[in-house]
Amino acid sequence: MTTENLNVLTSTQVVIKEALTKLGYPDEMYDLLKEPLRMLSVRIPVKMDDGKIKVFTGYRAQHNDAVGPTKGGVRFHPDVNEDEVKALSIWMSLKCGIVNLPYGGGKGGVICDPRTMSFGELERLSRGYVRGISQIVGPTKDIPAPDVMTNSQIMAWMMDEYSRIREFDAPGFITGKPIVLGGSQGRETATAKGVTIMIDQALKKRGIAVKDAKVAIQGFGNAGSYLAKMMHEAGAKVVGISDVHGALYDENGLDIEYLLDRRDSFGTVTKLFKNTISNKELLEQPCDILVPAAIENQITQDNADRIQAGIVVEAANGPTTLEATKILTERGILLVPDVLASAGGVVVSYFEWVQNNQGYYWTEEEVHAKLQDVMIQGFENVYSLHQTRNVDMRLAAYMVGVRKMAEAARFRGWI
Ligand code: NAD
Repeated sequence: MTTENLNVLTSTQVVIKEALTKLGYPDEMYDLLKEPLRMLSVRIPVKMDDGKIKVFTGYRAQHNDAVGPTKGGVRFHPDVNEDEVKALSIWMSLKCGIVNLPYGGGKGGVICDPRTMSFGELERLSRGYVRGISQIVGPTKDIPAPDVMTNSQIMAWMMDEYSRIREFDAPGFITGKPIVLGGSQGRETATAKGVTIMIDQALKKRGIAVKDAKVAIQGFGNAGSYLAKMMHEAGAKVVGISDVHGALYDENGLDIEYLLDRRDSFGTVTKLFKNTISNKELLEQPCDILVPAAIENQITQDNADRIQAGIVVEAANGPTTLEATKILTERGILLVPDVLASAGGVVVSYFEWVQNNQGYYWTEEEVHAKLQDVMIQGFENVYSLHQTRNVDMRLAAYMVGVRKMAEAARFRGWI
């Protein structure tokens, strides 16, 4: 059977099953972990600016709470659907397991297009969503965070709504808040910072110095643009970047400061240039490290043979299909999979929650030092399993990721 055309949920389940089988768990464990424990669907009536009521649909999935409360972002996007929210909640469980956080995975989403909504409409939708899910979330139950097209302002409204419902101040209900409301230093750049730590580790394994490395990054949004800046500042040559309209490539290195300066709030900049190439072409250009940081299914069985990078670090969720993972692994390309590479965001979200719970706040340097320790440990755990069990890096990451929750479920007597 080909796994190339599976949707995100079914392709995640394929690897979960393989990981549990390799670890020697019975089929019942797979039955438990293949779907979220809980999936709530809510209808949210919102008064729009023209006075009419529009009813939105939202979801909250809680994959597994054997280890601790569930945790994961809320996405506002027209394409949000149940299977995607379920799959993303499973990925959050895996991420938390890989970097050893005391959480299981959760995820939420609302079907809407924030680009067409006013500030007031977005605030009313955010508050309505929290009223819809308030019974199943909370600082010791399930802790939301930002995701695609949600930001610190939306987190602030959601935190305020939850605090009003509960009648106490509850900063630990949600992470990704503005600093003045209990947000953490370093949260905004955490995903990109985590990716740079993964790139460092991968380069060490390949014996390449950062200053000799050529990096191509697909996507110039929150994750991709901060990453380009950090890699440039670390002395690497950023030879390629892209956005939804196209890509720029220069083997001598791009002027990242100029591109960052000209980038708009949607992460686009390439329209300003004439000599662009396509996103597809960018993936196949010469470089040492390729970082897909945009959308899913970019490296497939159709182009995996032509990837020239020796290291692929997945900042985006699901950019490489399972077939392509096999091809890259067979070609000796070191793949740092999404569930490990993009875990920096949830790690600093966890730090934010710890700081809220203790009411004592850390400096950016402290946050970065702790993030570094956690991410390196996660990388080492995955890499050593990849070597000792002779499995690809994605399967190794899934094995590390499911092990803790499977053990917790076993100790609780569930299986
Ligand atoms: P974003 O919306 O800020 O930026 C997305 C970028 O991708 C933009 O430059 C956009 O122009 C580009 N893009 C959009 N559609 C494209 C297409 N069809 N082809 C090529 N480029 C396209 O998003 P982000 O927050 O940077 O997230 C990017 C990826 O990283 C997503 O997969 C997201 O799930 C993942 N991720 C992000 C974070 C985070 O903290 N931002 C955390 C974990 C994972």
